[in-house]
Amino acid sequence: MTAPTLQEIASCVSGYDPNALPVAQAQEFIARLVPRIEAVEMLALRSALGRVLARDVISAINVPAHDNSAMDGYALRGSDLRPDAQTVLHAVGTGFAGQRFDGAVQAGECVRIMTGAVMPTGLDTVVPQEFIHADGPRIMIPANLVRRGDNRRLAGEDLGQGEAALGMGRILSPADLGLLASLGQAEVPVRRRLRVAFFSTGDELRSIGEPLDAGCVYDSNRYTLWGMLQRLGVEGLDFGVVRDEPAALEAAFRAAARAADAVITSGGVSVGEADHTKQVMAKLGDVLFWRIAMRPGRPMAIGRIGGTGGNGDGAILFGLPGNPVAVMVTFYAFVRDALLAMSGATPKPLPMLRAASTLAIRKKPGRTEYQRGIVSRAAPGNSVTPAQAGAHTSREQWQVAITGAQGSGILRSMSQANGLVVLHHQQGDVAAGELVDVLPFDGLV
Ligand code: AMP
Ligand code: MG
Repeated sequence: MTAPTLQEIASCVSGYDPNALPVAQAQEFIARLVPRIEAVEMLALRSALGRVLARDVISAINVPAHDNSAMDGYALRGSDLRPDAQTVLHAVGTGFAGQRFDGAVQAGECVRIMTGAVMPTGLDTVVPQEFIHADGPRIMIPANLVRRGDNRRLAGEDLGQGEAALGMGRILSPADLGLLASLGQAEVPVRRRLRVAFFSTGDELRSIGEPLDAGCVYDSNRYTLWGMLQRLGVEGLDFGVVRDEPAALEAAFRAAARAADAVITSGGVSVGEADHTKQVMAKLGDVLFWRIAMRPGRPMAIGRIGGTGGNGDGAILFGLPGNPVAVMVTFYAFVRDALLAMSGATPKPLPMLRAASTLAIRKKPGRTEYQRGIVSRAAPGNSVTPAQAGAHTSREQWQVAITGAQGSGILRSMSQANGLVVLHHQQGDVAAGELVDVLPFDGLV
């Protein structure tokens, strides 16, 4: 199957206008562009935490394997319980976890049983230890405290044999590792880790450890990118700062595309750029230069470089703007989901919070704005006044304060923030107290 051309993808995206592309259309385009890596490796269970499951896992056994007791107490036949009256049974033995009681149990008899012990044949109910009175082997059970089937776990109630335990595309969580262990599975098939190369462009950039010459800044984008890639669980390959010289850029793009499934660059994609980054991108790949209807992060390059991308032949290119905040915002808005899709993960929408804005926010309809905010719990009775009286506003629990300066170069306000206020494409000015969507950083990256 040959990958669709960028033109073919563009023709499938309604509202496609490379010079004023709405965020949703850019996301749709990217989702159609990126291939999924196919290579699979088997990993020991513990090494698979955070990795993408490559196949459905079907349970080969019942979990639990047998009916067993959920309590310490006495196992009995539900049919022996007397309605509305005390039941007296005769204890004939004990069943321990891992060591079942094998004897026959007649009507009117019961078996002392421990949590997790297999239910003796014919018994279907457990009365907890603390409910009964014992007089030697005579066990007295007060009326109406247990019903037939109580405190018994059924074989296969956690997972039935042949049932799908976990679906392909899952990012394996601690609970998933435990579930796989409960199936007795020592190894698990996961997709190979995605390789993502990244470098910074710009003659004004210096790397940590170099003297900061006049007019220069330290390169911070390779650090935020490295951090975000780490949190995504992909392999980051740092190609350093690349000077604004065609030969150096060409060598860097070629090497990065060879080494990785995706290449992320920052800088050099603005409209007014005098440098060579865009020319070299266009020369080495099939690349589009977008102006996205968003703030921050308007310019962006997207496409394939050094081949059709993915699975060894070339790479998908994300040419992000240079401004440090724009790099992070465009990463969250476009690159994160794309890399997860390339990794084989089933996409999951990010959880959004609704919070009352403490201040009025100016917003122009026709572009998506991402503002840095500090989300906190609104103290009861002390929250900002809701703009509209409505069912969902009066008891609102969260509020968000926009951090001061929103310039796209001001990384400090990103560091202070604990979430991004997302002001959607069509949204206009926000009044103080109005509810807005917030993307919390916790759990994001
Ligand atoms: P550009 O997109 O190349 O026009 O860059 C926009 C702004 O971001 C300029 O002020 C650059 O100096 C700054 N910038 C670009 N790349 C980096 C970087 N890697 N680290 C810090 N600042 C950068
Ligand atoms: Mg630049």
